[in-house]
Amino acid sequence: MRAWTRPTVPALPGSAPLPVLHDTATAERRPTRVVDGAASLYVCGITPYDATHLGHASTYLAFDTLVRIWLDAGVAVTYAQNTTDVDDPLLERAAATGVDWRDLAASQTDLFRSDMQHLQVLPPDHYVAVTDVVSDVALAAARLLDLGLAYRVDTPGSTEGDDVYFDVRAAERSTSWHLGLESRYDLETMTRFSAERGGDPDRPGKRDPLDPLLWRAARDGEPSWPSALSAGRPGWHIECTVIAQAHLAAPISVNGGGSDLVFPHHEMSAAHGTAMTGEPYADLWAHTGMVAYQGEKMSKSLGNLVKVSELVAAGHDARAVRLAVAGHHYRSDWEWFDADLEAAEARLDRWARWASAADDAAADDEPTPLLAALRHALADDLDTPSALAAVDARVASGSTATAVDLDAVQALLGVDLRR
Ligand code: ZN
Repeated sequence: MRAWTRPTVPALPGSAPLPVLHDTATAERRPTRVVDGAASLYVCGITPYDATHLGHASTYLAFDTLVRIWLDAGVAVTYAQNTTDVDDPLLERAAATGVDWRDLAASQTDLFRSDMQHLQVLPPDHYVAVTDVVSDVALAAARLLDLGLAYRVDTPGSTEGDDVYFDVRAAERSTSWHLGLESRYDLETMTRFSAERGGDPDRPGKRDPLDPLLWRAARDGEPSWPSALSAGRPGWHIECTVIAQAHLAAPISVNGGGSDLVFPHHEMSAAHGTAMTGEPYADLWAHTGMVAYQGEKMSKSLGNLVKVSELVAAGHDARAVRLAVAGHHYRSDWEWFDADLEAAEARLDRWARWASAADDAAADDEPTPLLAALRHALADDLDTPSALAAVDARVASGSTATAVDLDAVQALLGVDLRR
């Protein structure tokens, strides 16, 4: 599927350190895995029915920063991302608003692309719609049935066949994966999150309450695709596993997403992946904090969304939106205040005035102290607040900006000050 236009990333002089990131699975800071100069990244994409609020933006901007510092360090990056363009919440929204679910998904995916482009996010190399991999998901589920790691659950609601579930206990017995490997959660927490986040721990007929759905047999009025299993559609976690494995070798250097994906989504994606390849699924798990607004976590169900497209339509500079988000460390939970955007616009103004007096003629190819400071801050678990502070200090010092300084801000922070 088409992604979006790639923004310009100036090459920077000198050499950059490889990034160290906090790993959810070990609760430690670890170097990112680079093999033969190459790294891979998978970030879970949106379910396209309410794009793109600042919680989403914060996640994709954090991993954009990672891609940018990998590129600066000379790493060849392969980045894959899905879009969950068929799933219960999308279908429910479509039904509630009287819109065809395909039209809703297409229009919201378009909006997401335009938001990412406004924010100067580098596009993934593989941007994959779940509806384009349905038969691959069915094959993966069939394979897990063959391996004895999945089973059918009686599904009276379907005339097409039975739902297929993954057997977490069988996977624990026969693979290196185990419950809590990635999330570090206890059983009680996992069961609670399973119920809250799309799972069905109470469904009768399952071998274990935490067993996740791999394949949903067709129901009346629901979209479905023919497959070797039954007419139906993919479960949520297996879609990411299948897309990641099609494009990225195991283990993925970094698997990322919002912290609400830690369990069950990422834990189960890892389980499916390890079951299919025998390899660990990801080397490092990186998660972004939740963004609140008006005192509550920004969420579709509460309706307290601040959307990138609405800020841009209201005349705000997307560079200021990017700076406002970058003012928070990606791992922290934080609250958006409208005043944050005003502060970011004032900051962008100061930076732009400094840039307009730049000595572009001095085509100096040496790293500047500002470039070194940005590299140091960002390689240290994507410390964007310190990176912004480094630019602030340079701007406040009154010394003239150089071409390398402006290139560094554009390449590493995704903010083009020459515009
Ligand atoms: Zn995912």
